[in-house]
Amino acid sequence: MRAGIVVLLAAMGVGAAAQNNPASKSVERGDMDRSAAPCDNFYEFANGTWRAQNPIPASMQRWSRRWQAGEQNKDRLRTILDDLSSSEHPKGTPAQLTGDFYAACTNVKAVDEAGVAPLKASLAAIDAMHDAAGLQEEIRQLHAVGVFVPFGFNSAQNQHDPANMIADVGAAGLGLPDRDYYLKPDQRFADARAGYLQYIAKIFTLAGSPEAEAKSAATTVMDFETALAKASLDNVALRDPSATDHLMDYAGLEKMTPHFDWTAYLKSAGVAAGVVNVDQPLFLAEFERQLTKTPLAQWKIYLRWQVLNNAADTLSQPFVDAHFEFYQKQLAGVGELKPRGTRCAELTDGLLGEALGQEYVKRYFPPEAKDRAKTMVNNILAAMHDTIQGLDWMAPATKQKALEKLAAVRVKVGYPDKWKDYSSVKIERGDFFGDTIAASRFLVADDRGRINKPVDRSLWGMTPPTSDAYYNPTMNEIVFPAGILQPPAFSLQNVDAVNYGAIGVVIGHEISHGFDDQGAQYSASGALDNWWTAEDLKKFQAKTACVVKQFDGYRIDGPEDIHINGKLVLGESIGDLAGLKIAYLAFKKTPQGQSTELIDGLTPDQQFFIAWGQFRGDETRVETQKMMVQGDPHPVAKYRVVGPVSNFPPFAEAFQCKAGAAMVRPESERCVVW
Ligand SMILES: [Zn+2]
Repeated sequence: MRAGIVVLLAAMGVGAAAQNNPASKSVERGDMDRSAAPCDNFYEFANGTWRAQNPIPASMQRWSRRWQAGEQNKDRLRTILDDLSSSEHPKGTPAQLTGDFYAACTNVKAVDEAGVAPLKASLAAIDAMHDAAGLQEEIRQLHAVGVFVPFGFNSAQNQHDPANMIADVGAAGLGLPDRDYYLKPDQRFADARAGYLQYIAKIFTLAGSPEAEAKSAATTVMDFETALAKASLDNVALRDPSATDHLMDYAGLEKMTPHFDWTAYLKSAGVAAGVVNVDQPLFLAEFERQLTKTPLAQWKIYLRWQVLNNAADTLSQPFVDAHFEFYQKQLAGVGELKPRGTRCAELTDGLLGEALGQEYVKRYFPPEAKDRAKTMVNNILAAMHDTIQGLDWMAPATKQKALEKLAAVRVKVGYPDKWKDYSSVKIERGDFFGDTIAASRFLVADDRGRINKPVDRSLWGMTPPTSDAYYNPTMNEIVFPAGILQPPAFSLQNVDAVNYGAIGVVIGHEISHGFDDQGAQYSASGALDNWWTAEDLKKFQAKTACVVKQFDGYRIDGPEDIHINGKLVLGESIGDLAGLKIAYLAFKKTPQGQSTELIDGLTPDQQFFIAWGQFRGDETRVETQKMMVQGDPHPVAKYRVVGPVSNFPPFAEAFQCKAGAAMVRPESERCVVW
């Protein structure tokens, strides 16, 4: 049923675009490096000149026109927030909440004068714990304001009954990015551990501990977290949905952690007992062990640390600097903090995002942009439909299921139909720290309020100004916030080749996530439910193994021989590979895609591929690349550009590449998943 609608809209969309399309903007010719051959080094060819002329700003991890636009988007938020904070608004309105929050955040003098004082009560409560019951009460209090240590507790769709929400208990409580940072011998992890120890000691010193005590506390924290890390899954294991799929009732949960009072926990969380998913049973076993074996004095140090580290960014400058020096400078290679106003805009977006987003879309997201983006989405969905239909390796039974799933994909564009109501949050101009706690408390309560209820499909997982997009497998939905439907990803002025090569591939990428190694395990309804015949699943896995091997072969920049982890980036790479293909196929149905008329000296197909290279390409700090290969399921930018094009024959045709060129994988190694 829906597939029919999709195809119909697709046909209308093409006609409408052709009739009144004033678009004339093509790729940025000046960004290209014409001295590089597209078939040998497409990355350089597409935007090497821009990267050479625009070094990464000191405050950024990565840089490209796209990242630049992302920062300009934050300038827009600052403009909005400057406006809103310059006058008074009725209490509880989006304007009051965001304006006063921003005013409080940018009042550096008040924040600096307060020092660590805003945390006094919280730290005193930890000091006052005198038994196991006190420890558990403290864990409950911290969870209520979003400090989820050592485990997480939030709402999630039931993967086996996605129409309903349940509670999900996850692993958490680490200060380093993931388990490998605690356990692996590689130099970069050893350096991170040494830096983390110093950082912990520094924060304890700033909070008033004598130096020797701060140092020994740092060791205690490291030991405590290392034990948690040992019981945690690594990033590759976490990509397997069945690895974190353990439904049970609360009796089961109590059996796993007999020393934790779940009745008291649920009562304080305002949640009734029901079905619960435990992501990582081994982690909960370790939590149980810590509850019974770890002396209270060590728990106090660990919780003090977690409270301080969670708040460091919102305290006075010395805390902010220490936090930056470790997480941004040492781990990611960044040189300096972003301006305070930008950081405050980011935080407002993070805590009150849909309040801020209402004003953002009013000013910066015209209805025509929404219509045009929706048309593109429908055209690309139709291309995926044709692609699945045409597969020669898939049995009709599996195809049928794949098409059902595609037809059920929900599309969200721009901003929510129903805005989150923050009117109960108390935001005061003079109390920045209190404001962050009030907003966090609201968000936690809001999330807990969904547990044991039917799923609310109107909710968004990103705020409207976000320059990003996502696929949610249990919702089976693709979501494109207004923030990414902006240049250079998308513009009403762009020619079709550029829009399809940039945002089009993003749209194709998100659609394809429904059919990547993870997404393909979820059915049309969003249930974790195998819909493949055994034989087709085997063929699919052989196809995805090709992509793993391809990306395993890529190494990041820098002197160390560090490779991309093909298994970690598999889902994203399938998304890029299939996304490029279906965006291209949809583009080929537009009048421009069918034309051979040159656009600014380039063929329409060349424009399409260069647009992809220019949109996706960036310059990334080597330290950031090291972090990415470890924890980011996305490959570094260079391989997101050249990885998919080198598997895609129309690219070679567009630039007349010869067999054997670097950007043309030999047929025997060419990866095609969809
Ligand atoms: Zn993705």
